[in-house]
Parts: sequence; structure tokens; C-alpha cells
Amino acid sequence: MLFAAMVLVSTVEAEEDAPVLVLRGAAVFDSVRGEMLPNQIVIVRGERIESVGANLSDAVIPPKADIVDATGNFIIPGMIDAHAHLQHQLNLAHMTGEEVLPLYLACGVTSLREVGDQVSVQKLILNYAEAHPESCPRIFMCSPLIDGSQPFHQDVGWDLSDPEKVPAFVEDMKAWGVTTLKIYVGTQQPVGKRVIEEAHKHGLVVTGHLGLYHAQYAVHDGIDCLEHIWSVFDYIIPDGPRPDGYRSVMDLTTPKAKDLIASIKEHNTAVDPTLTIFRNALLLTDLEAVYTNPDLAYVPARLRKRWESHRANQGLKPETFDLRRKEFEKYQELTGILYREGVTILAGTDTAEPYVIPGFSMHEELERLVESGLPASAALQSATIRNATALKQEANLGSISPGKLADIVVLTADPLTDICNSRKIDKVIRGGIVCDPQTLLKMVPPE
Ligand SMILES: [Zn+2]
Repeated sequence: MLFAAMVLVSTVEAEEDAPVLVLRGAAVFDSVRGEMLPNQIVIVRGERIESVGANLSDAVIPPKADIVDATGNFIIPGMIDAHAHLQHQLNLAHMTGEEVLPLYLACGVTSLREVGDQVSVQKLILNYAEAHPESCPRIFMCSPLIDGSQPFHQDVGWDLSDPEKVPAFVEDMKAWGVTTLKIYVGTQQPVGKRVIEEAHKHGLVVTGHLGLYHAQYAVHDGIDCLEHIWSVFDYIIPDGPRPDGYRSVMDLTTPKAKDLIASIKEHNTAVDPTLTIFRNALLLTDLEAVYTNPDLAYVPARLRKRWESHRANQGLKPETFDLRRKEFEKYQELTGILYREGVTILAGTDTAEPYVIPGFSMHEELERLVESGLPASAALQSATIRNATALKQEANLGSISPGKLADIVVLTADPLTDICNSRKIDKVIRGGIVCDPQTLLKMVPPE
């Protein structure tokens, strides 16, 4: 009893001794309501937010507090990339994930949702990130890509074609500390449905880049998220040959499309469109703005070289550019329709696919979401509170609220008047640790 009391006292003392950071005078984005609140005071104690408000008259600011005058700045919650790979693609450039982690933090991405790699590799990178919170985002682990008997990706796929093997697989993933399970293109409904049932028993989240297991069944079976706008789009494309080889002419208002969208809404399934990979790596890699992006200067040469070889061997023909551009516009049109119908939209990028630059691509995704018809406030909600909720981390992440982890981005311009202002980062705070973006960018190996 005495021992317990002593432990309690020492914990309280430790919290009281924790450094206090006060950000005074900035506007704060309320990600729950989608509004910018002027002239706020944010008090951070240790790794968590202690209080936030306009008139913190009751707040006792300790004499030793580090007070930052943030007047004229705009504070948003640390962003979460809902679709990141720390092994796949990087391995082809002979890189390991921790080498690029400072890029995320420099860009205001304080958490990553892994969506499919080998779990032992993820665990090593996660351990590295936890040991280096001053330069790395938080990582939430995922299963490998759950696939049929011949996994599409040899490096990060997993043959789970027997439904009887699902319970043991899910238990194993839980034991590794995985929080998301990812169904991939070769999974059929009997396995997919079982994965969803077993995952939910263990409190895990299931997402899917679907193929054989069509979206209307997966949504009905209770899948939590759909990765890539393709998971929705591919189901509603008309049967038969495509007139132009690209899906640039397509009616998104057919009864089939309307039924699926209504079902997604009814089942509260989130959709993570990942528009950046479609534009930068698949359809419009030959767009000059993609391959001469100035942010490529921060990408290690090994990875840039790998991306350049992807572009050189992709076989995109200049004469199809217009059709490809129109197909991409269809993806954006569908994203806008989903948003207006009330579907939860997540913000994920699919980095480090070619030209989907770790960290920087989050800002591109926000811009693509706004182009698709989301207000800037909704795009920011996707990147913060929606993604936190998709990870079941809304108690810790996703908003500037008392008790939550102090993952904070301080901007010099208002992202609600122009979403591109999300790039104007003055400082990034990760669990109370203040990080300078320029210093972080220099930590990434140039070669
Ligand atoms: Zn992916």
C-alpha cells in the first residue's frame, strides 16, 4: 500500500516537473468543427496538451514555462498520412524506411498509418522511430498485404487463401502490435469476410485495396476503409471493352454507382482516395510538374534514380496524355461525389511509390482533395481527425484538445484561405518536442 502511494506521488511530481510550452496568440484549427479559432493560447505540458482556449484566465503558467509568441500564426494538429509504406518501393532503391522518416516530420506529418509491409521490418522501423522522437513520426503497423495463393507482391504479400487459417493469422498480427489489416486484390469473399469478423473481435481495423472481393460485398461485410478511389471506381465501370483504352468517359451517376455510394455511406465505411499516386506514379508521370517537382531535391539520390527508371520504362504515350488526364479527373469527380454524399474521406498518399515524396506528398494530396471539391477545412479534417479516427486514435491524436498528445504544426499562413499554405511550416511539435523543419530536412541522406 505504502509502495503504491509512493509510486503515485512520484508520477505526479514527474508530470509537474515536465517542461511547459506555451503558444500564445495563434489561430487554432478546430478539426472537429472545421473552424479556425482566433487568438488562442495552447499550453503543452510534457508530451500532452494541457489546455487550449481564448481566455485561459484560470491557467497557471509556471514561471519556467517556455512562452512562444505565435501571433499571426496558424496552428493545425499534426497530420497523419493514412497510406504509407516503409518497406515496399524503398527496398527497390536499397533503402530502409527510417532513412526517410525526417521528411515526414519536416512536412508536418507526425503519424503514419502503415498499409502493408512485412511486420518484422515495420517493427524495426517503429522501434527506431520511438527511440528518435525528435526526428521521426509515430508509426502504426499493418499486416502484410493479405492476398490469394499467388500474392501479387512477392516482397510484402501474404498467402491467406484458406479461411480456416484466418483466426491464427489475425491473432499473430495482434501479437506483433499491428492495428490495421489490409486486404489485397487476390483475396476472395470467404477469406475477406472472415478477416473482418476476426479483426473486429480483436479491436483491429480492416482496410482493403480490393480486387476479387468487390466493394459492395466488402462494405456489406463491414470493412472499415477502402483504399484508393479504384476500390470504388472499378466496381462501377461499365462492362465490356473501353472505347478509348482509358476510362475517361464514364457515367458516375448510374444506379449501380448510386447504390454503392449509398451503401458506403450507410455502413460508415471510410474512403481513402490516394489521388497523389494516381497522378504522380500511374497516369501522369510524364507531366513536367511531377518529374521536375522541386521537392525532389530532398529525396535521396537512390530513390530518385529508382523513380526515374520507373518513368523511363512506364511506356506512357504522349498521344494518350489527354485521355489519361481525363481519367484522373474522373477519379477526382468521384471523390467529390463521395464527399458531398457524406462519405468519410481519409487523406493518404501511397508514398514511397514513384514521385509520391514522403511527407511532401501529404500537401499534394490536400491540394488534390480541394481540387476534387472538398473545402480546405474538410481536407484538413481528413488529414487529422478523420485519419486519427480511422486508426482508433481519436483519444490521442487528430485535434488540439486537452489530454491529447502535443502533435502540432505551426504555420505562417492560413490553410483555410489557401490549402497550399499547409506547406508554410514554421515549426513542428511532436509529443511536445519542438522540431525545426530545415534541420529535419538536412538529416535525410542525400545519396
Ligand atoms: Zn499502397
